[in-house]
Amino acid sequence: MTDDARQTLLQRAEEDRVAFVNLQFSDVLGMAKTVTIPVDELEDALDHGVWFDGSAIEGFARSVESDMYLVPDLATYALVPWEQHDDLATARMICNIYTPDGRPFGGDPRHILASVSRQAADLGFSFHVAPELEFFLFKLDGDGRASHLPQDYAGYFDVSTDQATLIRRQMVRALQRFGIVVEAAHHEVAAGQHEIDLRHAEALQAADQTVTARLTLKAIAQFNGLYATFMPKPVAGVNGSGMHLHQSLFDLVTGQNVFADPNDAYGLSATARHFIAGLLEHARGMCAILAPLVNSYKRLVPGFEAPVHISWGRTNRSALVRVPSITTGRHQSTRIELRCPDPSCNPYLAYAVMLAAGLDGIKRKLPLREAAEEDLFHVDPRARGLQTLPASLGDALDAMRQNTLIQQALGPIVYERFVEARQLEWDNYRSFVSEWELSRYLGVF
Ligand code: GLU
Ligand code: MG
Repeated sequence: MTDDARQTLLQRAEEDRVAFVNLQFSDVLGMAKTVTIPVDELEDALDHGVWFDGSAIEGFARSVESDMYLVPDLATYALVPWEQHDDLATARMICNIYTPDGRPFGGDPRHILASVSRQAADLGFSFHVAPELEFFLFKLDGDGRASHLPQDYAGYFDVSTDQATLIRRQMVRALQRFGIVVEAAHHEVAAGQHEIDLRHAEALQAADQTVTARLTLKAIAQFNGLYATFMPKPVAGVNGSGMHLHQSLFDLVTGQNVFADPNDAYGLSATARHFIAGLLEHARGMCAILAPLVNSYKRLVPGFEAPVHISWGRTNRSALVRVPSITTGRHQSTRIELRCPDPSCNPYLAYAVMLAAGLDGIKRKLPLREAAEEDLFHVDPRARGLQTLPASLGDALDAMRQNTLIQQALGPIVYERFVEARQLEWDNYRSFVSEWELSRYLGVF
């Protein structure tokens, strides 16, 4: 960082009367971690970093290599909107993680995304992502824990005058104060389910914003005596929560959207078609990153607007990749939407593997098969030769073990620790005997 930038930041913190700075980073599974420093320590933190014990963090170092340090990224400075009372004003900065010899730590998800973004830059592209965050608002039970009772009983795009509408607006305001541009917010299909859509941003910034948005939505829900959950399928039999990811590539020199071709039937350039082909090619191999929980695979079933088959199309909400319609003349907003990710994923890793998959499609000039425009819930996809997404976390991990491109994108540390942690979770789930099994089998066999 330049001396000027450092000085400007310190001055800004003083003007904002900041008392504390939260230094934030993310573990391999995407959980936000933070260490708080009094503002007097900020100058030292900028100059020398802040040391911490990585061995205590999920998926980070083993004890032999435990010391790491955080270096705050100046561009991520923001006031925490709900922590500005009295003399406790708090700012947050997102950090990069370094090992004692001064190298970026290979287990830092932010570093993984930055590395893949650099590969895109080498080809002349900047990758943009816009997430649609779906979530449920649940009431708390008598002990203050999250219940399964939805906060409201409205449906898709319903206008309601209840508390949820107010809370959604509070959420949008808080995101805006964080400097995040919100495009829209609405009630989703299920009771208690909502969606907030963020404006596209360059991938690293978009991932920072996604983590921030999740924290913000949870905080605002909590202030209202509710619980916001990003669990992909909290209620059986109704829609789950996805995090559809809109993606586009911009030319680094001209600033033009390279996915756009107004003369094409789908408005897509050859580059965009190769990119989609890459996403389809690696869909199975990257699914464990995009939909990382045992529960994620209860969402990816037919009948709830979540994808099951590996296909693409325009209007089709059962397709894995959808090409949203755009207003005539606005080709700069041409984008493609991947629909299998859910909001429990680690956004840094998710955006990294999607980009790696798309770039692979471009580099290898992978051909894009014909679009599937019919509702795949009502045709036999096997007759069309369509592959399916993994049916369980176990399948998804196996598919990832067979995909060297995705492994390379994640780097050895993240790959090994991710698979290790998720395999443990899958094995744990597999050996659990559920209520469903007892009610179905015990009285019969
Ligand atoms: N909630 C659905 C899902 O799980 C998506 C609904 C929509 O199309 O917005 O992906
Ligand atoms: Mg939605």
